[in-house]
Amino acid sequence: MAIEDYRGDVEMCCRCSACKHIPLQKIKGVEHSEACPSIAKYNFHAYSGSGRLLIAKEMLTNGFKYTDKLLDIVYNCQMCGACDISCKYAMDMEVLEPIYEFRIKAVEEGHTNPALDKAITSLRKQGTMVPGAKAKRGEWAKGLGIKDFLRQKTKVAYHVGCLTSFDKDMWPVARATAKLLNKAGVDFGIGGEVESCCGGRAYQMGYQNDFIRQAQNNMALFKQCSIETLVTSCANGYHAFKVLYDKFGLKGNLEVLHITEYLARLIKEGKLKLNKKVNMTVTYHDPCYLGRLGEPWIHWEGKRIPGYKFVFDPPKEYRRGTHGVYEPPREVLTSIPGLKLSEMDRIKEYAWCCGAGGGVNESNPEFAMWTAKERIEEAESTGAEAIATACPWCEKNFNEAIKESGSGLKVYDIVELVEKAI
Ligand code: SF4
Ligand code: SF4
Repeated sequence: MAIEDYRGDVEMCCRCSACKHIPLQKIKGVEHSEACPSIAKYNFHAYSGSGRLLIAKEMLTNGFKYTDKLLDIVYNCQMCGACDISCKYAMDMEVLEPIYEFRIKAVEEGHTNPALDKAITSLRKQGTMVPGAKAKRGEWAKGLGIKDFLRQKTKVAYHVGCLTSFDKDMWPVARATAKLLNKAGVDFGIGGEVESCCGGRAYQMGYQNDFIRQAQNNMALFKQCSIETLVTSCANGYHAFKVLYDKFGLKGNLEVLHITEYLARLIKEGKLKLNKKVNMTVTYHDPCYLGRLGEPWIHWEGKRIPGYKFVFDPPKEYRRGTHGVYEPPREVLTSIPGLKLSEMDRIKEYAWCCGAGGGVNESNPEFAMWTAKERIEEAESTGAEAIATACPWCEKNFNEAIKESGSGLKVYDIVELVEKAI
């Protein structure tokens, strides 16, 4: 696809500004009613979902030059998709897809961001989006005796992801995941030094060709090793393997499960028994790429009926974010004896972003932190003592925001809470 394919969508935007807020029916008060971190922070229409569509429309109609201001707008967006969902409560039109295409076009025309270029250079050289040497990718697993799926046969692969592999603060999540899978009797393996980035964050940053190369290489490896099921504890990885690989026709029959889906299944089947009390009140943060953007891709081929912007043959089905992974993480949390779940105002498909997406963590850390602090404040307002999440990027951003703000809130990956209950 290209930005030209979304001409009808960008022309349809009526500037109602619904994309700036969570859906009207879900608003409980003035506080926590905003949906888009970019417009909430920069407070100028161009930074909203609608503003980006209007810029794209201008580009398609009259063409324009890439100024520094324009690129500031392009890259100060977490690609979190909240605008898309709010718009779709009322409209049948795409918002996030043209925003993606707009960014991809900027990259293809050489208007990149130096901080994102650095992450992509690391990806091309070492297969990782975060600093780290390829040979050290499996170090987190030392002493656990986990199968290496390249050399030992198994049908289930645990894809650990770049951040969890190289950030030692995240190793406890990977080690807890491996221990839980072992405890439940799952025959699984890891790639270790042959594991490579899913490519999802490269796509979010606009580097579509790098994403496709990663996807092709990963699928070739899984095929070579006869992998049938892929488990990941990273929301970005889940979205890449499950949604993007499918969008680009590369996923084949690979079953993709987020670890919370797998744990919920193992608990239901009685293979994992949670019997220790964890007396704690927690709130749950839905990662954007597991929640609204984790919704399966819908393939549609057809044509617009001439004379109508939004009448398609056959009718087009829209992804509205309501089929993301929402219940499994909540089922796992509420299966933990003694644990109480206290929900935030913005949840599920209208959850507020952690701030780390779309390369903002790399290109504008101050904006990423501001976004995370907003979420921490919302989490505190529930009375919870901890925020649980299901993505290492959210966990990392929340921990840094808490350090800066002096909040007493604790941060856990759901896997770590399950480990406490065993
Ligand atoms: S993108 Fe959708 S919600 Fe936002 S102003 Fe345009 S029509 Fe309204
Ligand atoms: S993707 Fe997220 S940050 Fe970007 S415009 Fe939409 S709501 Fe705002």
